[in-house]
Amino acid sequence: MLSVVVDRPNSLAVREMPTPTPAAGEVRVRVRYAGICGSDLHIYRGHNPFVSYPRIIGHEFVGRIESVGERVDAARVGELVAVDPVISCGRCHACQIGRQNVCRNLVVLGVHRDGGFSEYVCAPARNAYRIPERIAQSCAAIVEPFAVAANVTARTGVLDSDVALIYGAGTVGLTILQVLKRVYGVRAFITDQLDERLELARRCGAQADETINTRNEPLADALRARGVEDGPTLIFDAVGHPSILEEAVRLAAPAGRIGLLGFSSTPSAIAQQELTKKELTLCASRLNCAMFPTVIDWLERGLVTPESIITHKVDFREVSSAFELAEHNPRETCKVLLDFGA
Ligand code: MN
Repeated sequence: MLSVVVDRPNSLAVREMPTPTPAAGEVRVRVRYAGICGSDLHIYRGHNPFVSYPRIIGHEFVGRIESVGERVDAARVGELVAVDPVISCGRCHACQIGRQNVCRNLVVLGVHRDGGFSEYVCAPARNAYRIPERIAQSCAAIVEPFAVAANVTARTGVLDSDVALIYGAGTVGLTILQVLKRVYGVRAFITDQLDERLELARRCGAQADETINTRNEPLADALRARGVEDGPTLIFDAVGHPSILEEAVRLAAPAGRIGLLGFSSTPSAIAQQELTKKELTLCASRLNCAMFPTVIDWLERGLVTPESIITHKVDFREVSSAFELAEHNPRETCKVLLDFGA
């Protein structure tokens, strides 16, 4: 089989690899589409502390089960599936309390073991969620980023009365936006420094006055001008720069919640007083905790629309140019899919 292999930082190749055999409890999937994520670029650039090399990367993908290991129902062969990359031990404290996405023995497909940028990939059968045939396969490829949005919004909770603010109109910000606008129906402002990304935000359900270009308008002024006197009650940092948490804590309304998804190792300077005074809640969110069924239900009901953020489909043999595009053309790209053929 052909796979996209990162041998070491800054070294990427499409290479013939041995087709893996599904272990007991696993399925083998013939991959159809896979989404390129910022974290794949980080692995490629050597900025992911969890990865080991060489690695077949990719953790957002859809395909068809084409063989099964022992103890897996052979009737699943032929099923179209989206694969949750989060594999947990089931025994540690986090797993025992239903928080398996932070399992102490966590294994993530495409990070700790080989992932979905490959013609074939093996995964635990329970991680392979059936996709109804009427959902477009390209859309089903990016269940995972929507599961990230489902997870962080579940962590913070969403109230009917919330006024939300999302920092950053990249994939993560735009999936959170879709969830807030279309699943919960709350007012949600979103920031970016690129008008093209804010245009995508409008396609994802933002009203014209809910998009804020922070290159043109200071955020606090922009919110006030839009009638948000007391500050947002719910804030999501989908950028991950340390200064954003500092600003979010200042802007948040009393009793506000802040959802955090970043992986920066640079500290943010926050006085305890700022948190205590307004009794703010910080909700960190990593990957997703069994959110695939929720997202597949949203897809079936047409509440979330992956096609609004998919900007490119590229043959997987052209992965280098696809990475180039994703890394250097933020005005033109949002989610880039690799096409592994039918
Ligand atoms: Mn991702």
